Amino acid sequence: MRGKETAVTCDSCGRKVPRNKAVAYERAISFSTDLHNANDVRFFEKRKVYYCISCAKHRGIFEKKKEMAERNRRF
Ligand SMILES: [Zn+2]
Repeated sequence: MRGKETAVTCDSCGRKVPRNKAVAYERAISFSTDLHNANDVRFFEKRKVYYCISCAKHRGIFEKKKEMAERNRRF
């Protein structure tokens, strides 16, 4: 099973973490273009980032996930 496990890089500390131990977090990134003729052209990109457990805890990712789940239930 050598080399089977995928390692991902923690977006916060840059440590290599095995994927099954990393916390996946989808972050929506919005950025506007430099085109000033169109009004408010924005692109939204969903980027999946990974955090190691300690960074996820530190950044409150777990709390955010819980919050999101609750919000989705309400609407
Ligand atoms: Zn980390």
